[in-house]
Formats: sequence, C-alpha cells, structure tokens
Amino acid sequence: MRHVDVLVVGAGPAGSATAIHLARSGASVLLADRATFPRDKACGGGVTGRALRQVPCDITPVVERVVDTFELRLNHTRSFRRTSTAPLILMTQRRRLDAFLAEQAVTAGARFQDGARVENIVIGEVGVSATVGGDTITADVLVGADGANGTVAKAAGLDAGIERGVALEGNVPWAVLDEERYATTAVVEVGAPAGGYGWLFPKGDHANLGVGGWATEGPRLRDHLARLAHAYSVDPDAITGLRGHRLPMRRIGASTPASRRVILVGDAAGLVDPLSGDGMYEAFVSARLAAEAIVAGAPESYPAALADALDHHAGASWTAKQALDRHPAVCFWAARSPGVFGVVAGLLRGDVGHPDEARGLARPPLRLISRVARRR
Ligand SMILES: Cc1cc2nc3c(=O)[nH]c(=O)nc-3n(C[C@H](O)[C@H](O)[C@H](O)COP(=O)(O)OP(=O)(O)OC[C@H]3O[C@@H](n4cnc5c(N)ncnc54)[C@H](O)[C@@H]3O)c2cc1C
Repeated sequence: MRHVDVLVVGAGPAGSATAIHLARSGASVLLADRATFPRDKACGGGVTGRALRQVPCDITPVVERVVDTFELRLNHTRSFRRTSTAPLILMTQRRRLDAFLAEQAVTAGARFQDGARVENIVIGEVGVSATVGGDTITADVLVGADGANGTVAKAAGLDAGIERGVALEGNVPWAVLDEERYATTAVVEVGAPAGGYGWLFPKGDHANLGVGGWATEGPRLRDHLARLAHAYSVDPDAITGLRGHRLPMRRIGASTPASRRVILVGDAAGLVDPLSGDGMYEAFVSARLAAEAIVAGAPESYPAALADALDHHAGASWTAKQALDRHPAVCFWAARSPGVFGVVAGLLRGDVGHPDEARGLARPPLRLISRVARRR
C-alpha cells in the first residue's frame, strides 16, 4: 500500500492543473486516469482568453489557430461578424492539450498513471483509500477531477444540484469548407438546439462542428448537427470522429463541491458555464482554488472561494441562457447592437468580469436580455 498527500482522479484540464499547482507547492501527488493517453474528449477545444489566464503553463505548443473574429448566426439565415483587436479564443484539440497538461504535471513533480481506473473509494475521517489500476493507494485528500460521468462525487455524496446538458461534435476536413473564410473565426449559430447552440471552430487541418443543448435534445442532436452541416454545404456523412458528452451545470447554491477529505474540480463539480457550454475556464479556476485550499490545510475553505470566483458570472450566464432559450431572435438583435460586441469580446478575453460592467451604448440591449429572461 502506498501513501500520497493527494490522489487526483482524472487527468483532464481540471485534474492536471490541480496536480501542477500541488506538485509545485511540494505536495506528493498521484494523478491517475482510466484512459490511456493521448486520449480524446468530446469538446470544441476552444480555450478563451479568459481561460488562458488561468492555465498554469504555456500551452503555445498545442495551439492550432488563434481566433479574433466572432460570427453570430440566427436559425441558419441572418448573421453578422465582428473582429476584435486582440485574440479571443485559442483553438486546440483535447487529445493534444490534455496530454500536454499531464506532461506538465509530471514536469512539476507529480506522478502520472494513465490506463489506471480509480475505484473502491473509501472516505474516512483521517484520509481516503482507493484502488488505482488495481493497487491500493491511501491519501490525505482525494481530488475528484473525473468529469461529467465521474464516480468521486457519487462516492462522496456530493452529486446533487447539477443539471446535465448534452453536446455532440465532429470534424470536417478543410477540403470541403472555405478555410480562408473560417481560419480565424468562431461561428455560433443560435435558435437551435433548445438550451444551447451550434458552432463551427477552426483547427489546424479541419473544422470542428458541434451542437449542444438541454438533455431533452439528446435524441435530436444528430439531426441538429446534420442541419448545421447542410448550412455549410457539407454532407453530414463527411463528419468524422463523432463524439457526444454531457455538460454538467450546477444550479447556484444547490451543490457542495467539497467535504472534509474530498474536493471536486471542473466538470466533476458541475462547473460548465450554462450559456457557453465552456468548462475549461472553470476547470482551471477550480484547480487553482482547490490546490490553494489543500496546501493551506483547509479543504473546507474551498466551496466559499469557488462561489466567490464563479457564482456572479454563472448567474449572468443562467439569465442569458433563459433569454436565449425563450427569444433567440431578440438576443441575436441585442448582440448586434452597437457596443455589445465590445462587452462580449471583453468577456471572452477576460478583460470584462461580468456584463454589469458594460457602459454606454451596450447597456440598454444587455438590460433587454435580462428583462426577456424574466418574461414568461
Ligand atoms: C461537445 C462539447 C464541446 C465543448 N467545447 C468546449 C470548448 O470549446 N471550450 C471549453 O472551455 N469547454 C468546452 N466543453 C466543456 C469541456 O470539455 C469540459 O468542461 C472540460 O473537459 C472539463 O474538464 P475536466 O478536467 O473537469 O473533465 P474531463 O476533461 O472530462 O476529464 C475527466 C477525466 O477523468 C477520467 N476519469 C473518469 N473516471 C475515472 C476513474 N474512475 N478513474 C480514473 N480516471 C477517470 C476520464 O478518463 C477523463 O480523462 C465542451 C464540452 C462538450 C461535451
């Protein structure tokens, strides 16, 4: 039986970032993932500027495109484009990003074991034990970074209060799309599916097409994706690597991401942004805060720190999601109004913390979105 200070379950962005922070602070860390790396994960692979500020290492080696243009479309008919003076989103592929982050965790001093499922979790008063790839490991603290379908939250009784959306994505070679037009553009198509949107994101040798929404949209996601493909004159059969996954979104105040010996980070804590469906910003923020709480010997301080960091913004996202769901056309026209792109770009880059910070011409359309969300 081996003992470590911290056992981190799952080597996605949340788990590897937690391991990096902890190992740099001198903790002994075992980072374990059931998959053999490099492995893929259903994801658009868009790291917003806001998320980038939270990544604990330089990810330049795995960035394939830099997006500075945002195109918003409504029901495959109307659209507008806006270009930012600074990068908005860095595009990577999760197969590459996650392997790179796990390597960085090893460089920081963590031990990484892939192909090692963590199971038989027992949470005690003074520590935890689990089997990792068949070996028994004990640890002072267990970090659940095991994603949307993880088991740590269930084992710790921390899985309440989480809404689950669903998304489906795949890749299309540039040979069947206009690479020049989309090379630095993220396209977002609103109006369907309910509770979400469709997207086109540029990657090195292909574009990523995807759709996501409420869990009830699950059976219709393939049709939504086919419709999206047709909008670009792409045969849906040309989409390769189709992958679907859940989008866990916590209701504010309804879930607890930690107990005495267990801390949840990233998707395991249900931290996906309800409006954008992004979760990497939240994964990196929660990783940092979890590591700080563990190093300070106070895991119980983590829930309040996480709420301070994320709840205000998540509240605005729930509001905007409700408005988009009820009145996509109003939201589209509000987004098109003068000044609003400056706020959207600021939110993506991380220069603006919350839509409330909007000034001047952007305020009335953003207030309209809040009113529409409240209207029955
Ligand atoms: C279709 C889609 C598109 C998305 N697009 C974006 C985007 O463009 N930008 C963005 O920021 N976010 C996006 N997201 C959200 C983003 O993918 C997640 O928020 C992010 O992956 C969360 O990272 P994580 O480390 O918490 O979990 P994950 O990345 O899911 O990692 C969890 C890891 O835990 C491992 N694991 C699970 N159980 C065990 C076990 N018992 N033992 C050992 N290991 C285990 C898994 O193998 C996995 O490697 C998207 C999500 C979906 C579904």
